[in-house]
Amino acid sequence: MTATRIDGKAFAATVRGKVAKGVAALNTAHGITPGLAVVLVGEDPASQVYVRNKGLQTVEAGMASFEHKLDAETPEADLLALVAKLNADPAVHGILVQLPLPKHIDEAKVLSAIDPAKDVDGFHVLNVGLLGTGQKAMVPCTPLGCLMMLRDHLGDLSGLNAVVVGRSNIVGKPMAQLLLGDSCTVTIAHSRTKELAEVCRRADILVAAVGRPEMIPGDWIKPGATVIDVGINRIPAPEKGEGKTRLVGDVAYDSAVQVAGAITPVPGGVGPMTIACLLANTLTACCRANGLPEPE
Ligand code: NDP
Repeated sequence: MTATRIDGKAFAATVRGKVAKGVAALNTAHGITPGLAVVLVGEDPASQVYVRNKGLQTVEAGMASFEHKLDAETPEADLLALVAKLNADPAVHGILVQLPLPKHIDEAKVLSAIDPAKDVDGFHVLNVGLLGTGQKAMVPCTPLGCLMMLRDHLGDLSGLNAVVVGRSNIVGKPMAQLLLGDSCTVTIAHSRTKELAEVCRRADILVAAVGRPEMIPGDWIKPGATVIDVGINRIPAPEKGEGKTRLVGDVAYDSAVQVAGAITPVPGGVGPMTIACLLANTLTACCRANGLPEPE
């Protein structure tokens, strides 16, 4: 039997629909429009695509979108000044500074300058600390989307063995915190982990966030496990024509689908959920800023 394909695209559309309803209700009842400001420094082509998609989906959900595109040479002080301006702007409820930033800018300094209440990416140390101590935080969008798909597919996660491969601040670590918060027994694996295949085979929930194309083969997966593939890797696809490429995850989908109970595809799995969660976080931030009940 092959694994159930967890359709992140469809789930994300549902989440966006709920957010749009929440936005409309907020507007009707209180005359408030949530606003999301996205700051892009430089011309990284992948970042440009993300920022465009974020802007489009923000407007589709009925929110205000403020895009700030800065030159790659922008001094750090100018970026910090823009962040300060957005922090003070009552029409802006969420601020996202697209990473990576050019090398001459201190990423940690910029992220710490964002008002934690507007930090819809959840990267500010205050939000990291709140999440780590089980308090109400702004939760990073990618792991939040993964958790939503896991809960939707499995229901109660308590007591399950979860293995997160990858320990980055933006995916691996917050993912592990969220799974711990749902009472999983969590293992975080990384490049120094010994017997990685054995570690993965113990997982009822396997989250791959490595950035290495198809690194995890089907025989590393426990039969029936739920696999969330966060990786987005572009590889050559000569079968599509000269110079063509295609996207693959960190999991070898064709072999994994024969063993797993359920799996997210790449593309169409975690990716669309990330933007949906960004919109959900912006709505939440807006409700909190106005002392209104948060959406479920
Ligand atoms: P990072 O490069 O920051 O982290 C990668 C992690 O993988 C590190 O912890 C690293 O370990 C670990 N790793 C690297 N090689 C191995 C190995 N051979 N065995 C075990 N662990 C290894 O990446 P990100 O967390 O930012 O992103 C991971 C992937 O997720 C990327 O493909 C990225 O494109 C994708 N992504 C997708 C998003 C989405 O919306 N779907 C959003 C964000 C990211 P160590 O710490 O020891 O170096």
